[in-house]
Amino acid sequence: MTCDQSGNLSVNSFVSPIKIGKVWTMILCALIFVAVFVVAVPIIVHAQPLPKQTIYVDTSAINARTDLTALQKAALKGYILGDIKGNFGVKVGSENVEVTDDPSKKATADRVVNIKAGRDPNTANPAWGRWPAGSKSVDVYLGEFMDDPNVADAFKTGGSWDTDKLGRAIGHTAGHEVGHSYSIGHNSKAGDERSKMTKGNNIPATDRANSLFNFDEHGANVLKSNWGKPPCATAVDYDFKVLVTHYWGEPTLPNKPNELGALDTLFGFSGLYSSQFDFGVLGKDTDGGIRDGNPYFDFIFKSSMFGNATDAQMISFIQGAHDYSQFVLRGTPTSPFAGQWFILNEEKLYLNNFIMNPSGINVARLVGMMWHIEPGIIIEITLNSLAYGTASNPYNGFTYETIWKLVGGVSIPVDKFGLLAPYFGFASTIMVAVVATAIYVKRVKHRKEKQ
Ligand SMILES: [Zn+2]
Repeated sequence: MTCDQSGNLSVNSFVSPIKIGKVWTMILCALIFVAVFVVAVPIIVHAQPLPKQTIYVDTSAINARTDLTALQKAALKGYILGDIKGNFGVKVGSENVEVTDDPSKKATADRVVNIKAGRDPNTANPAWGRWPAGSKSVDVYLGEFMDDPNVADAFKTGGSWDTDKLGRAIGHTAGHEVGHSYSIGHNSKAGDERSKMTKGNNIPATDRANSLFNFDEHGANVLKSNWGKPPCATAVDYDFKVLVTHYWGEPTLPNKPNELGALDTLFGFSGLYSSQFDFGVLGKDTDGGIRDGNPYFDFIFKSSMFGNATDAQMISFIQGAHDYSQFVLRGTPTSPFAGQWFILNEEKLYLNNFIMNPSGINVARLVGMMWHIEPGIIIEITLNSLAYGTASNPYNGFTYETIWKLVGGVSIPVDKFGLLAPYFGFASTIMVAVVATAIYVKRVKHRKEKQ
């Protein structure tokens, strides 16, 4: 079925053109356009099934405990595996996630949870667990649950270990850390709004023991975007200016943090067309351009900008993973910019609210960014590291610097135009194909009519 400029609608070449008037044909053409670009393209893009991922959990530290019976150990391990499986399975499909403690699966697992004996080596300000940036393995400190006299009673009933309480708490922490490896940041929700990625200080030990926390809509959105990808790591953008993160640690609060070295910023955005873009950072390339058409970088998805529950509340900078960040917008599959990347112009990042940190570095606590996509389409984004009062370390902040690529200890400028040319992803490839086919069909038809 094609639309041509003479106002005729042809159902196919075997049926003679139906004359129904120019206005109605234009309306019909518009409807067909909407059907193809707004309905069909997203279905094609989203119809790719999610891959299966295996999460291996090393439970040997539980086996080594002398204060748990054999029955308790089996119950605890079973609870932890089931908790993780439930949390991920409900969002990505139960058939797409395997959670196992079978050691033969460790080497090929997509993610590994190391339940470590003992407490966090950072004794001054211990955390429940951590994700070593860029790693496929996360650590959960068993001793922070069982050997910290300040919290251990929360995981007991009648003075004895309660394997349900321990299992819920350890399973939650493991799921949270694995969530970070799929690029999900924190939120600062409270009460019943709390979720899998809520900041650790907002979830005291008694709540870890007694409540279940799931990925919220934003977390599930990021999880589905990155399911099947390797752990994210941001790229150092060579001879371009990047946002450099300065971590001055976590404030000391009544409850343990999830992990140390996370700088959480309140995420704000504005712009009439913001919903047509996803916000992200440039990541190290992991697919050679096969999936996203860009052989130099990955797009690390951080948030939608719909103004609804799929948007991030915070953008989290995890130490080691987000030390250098180059921001990028990507057109959503249903936008006229589908799959196109817009890397932030280095003149369009603004730093405010500076403070001299104890190392003598002047760091900014507020970051503003602006994209002029085309005349009339301006997107503004703000990141505020002070939004959480006493829960925000006053010395955490940012500088904006040119980072040079080091080759053999010598810094060399890299051709940034080669690296930063706009790339088109899968969605726009489909669109180009659809448009090209339509033009081709129309030309063939015109040729036939002339014959
Ligand atoms: Zn965390």
